Amino acid sequence: MYQTTIKKAVELVGIGLHKGSPVRLRLEPLEKNSGIIFYRSDVDVSIALTPANVVDTKMATVIGKDNYVISTIEHLLSAVYAYGIDNLRVIVDADEVPVMDGSSASYCMLLDEAGIKELDAPKKIMRIKKEIMVQEGDKYVKLSPSPDLRYGFTIKFAHPVINKQEYVLNFTKENYKNEIARARTFGFLHEVQYLRSKGLALGGSLDNAIVLDDKKVLNPEGLRFTDEFVRHKILDAIGDMSLIGMNFIGNYEAMAGSHDLNHKLTLALLKDAENYEVIELVGEKTAELEKAYA
Ligand SMILES: [Zn+2]
Repeated sequence: MYQTTIKKAVELVGIGLHKGSPVRLRLEPLEKNSGIIFYRSDVDVSIALTPANVVDTKMATVIGKDNYVISTIEHLLSAVYAYGIDNLRVIVDADEVPVMDGSSASYCMLLDEAGIKELDAPKKIMRIKKEIMVQEGDKYVKLSPSPDLRYGFTIKFAHPVINKQEYVLNFTKENYKNEIARARTFGFLHEVQYLRSKGLALGGSLDNAIVLDDKKVLNPEGLRFTDEFVRHKILDAIGDMSLIGMNFIGNYEAMAGSHDLNHKLTLALLKDAENYEVIELVGEKTAELEKAYA
């Protein structure tokens, strides 16, 4: 199995969540062993996708360098990571990635349009060797060794539409596209009103998030899945795990996880080389691993 990039450059324009103004997003192919590199064309700054460049995880995952940031990268990265793309340049002409409909469906369509190209170098993959857990109170995120790639997530909200939701994704690209990619981000009306009062989330609307009041979903079209909330949490987790820098094999499990806990999990994983091994996918003995990313 080989490293990949996209076959041709593609782009789209969408609204940025925070400023509410249009952002142009362009994806370009990159050579082998380049990784994922963000580029802000408005200020001529490149930012490599590594945990060291994560500067904020409160509302979204934000990377930055020299005081220049790119916000809300996780939904795009979720699609890129699920498609197993190793090398890619992501160009935006503002400080955020367009939010589209609050899911990763538009990015999947963009990647389908671009096509996948194999490069002349073996794909590297990380095999989780030890259990790594980050816990804060009753919330935790965890990676554990497994021959399969699985994402399990549980959320509990004292809200009649959400309550307790659990979901397990047995990862394949097709399962991701069918079960996860269309799940939208969500927020509560009082939070949206608060953010607006602070001049944030100016682009936020019922077009790019599920919004709930105390009792119900306000979007006239309703939900795409009854458990759309927990499915979106898996979408976020996949995007956040892309910061590892390569696809992995193991189990991801979370109870009320967040961007912040996911970031701490990637740091804890990479801190000790005993936690993992990096395998080059060549030869028959890696057939099982290759199946997961077929
Ligand atoms: Zn999200």
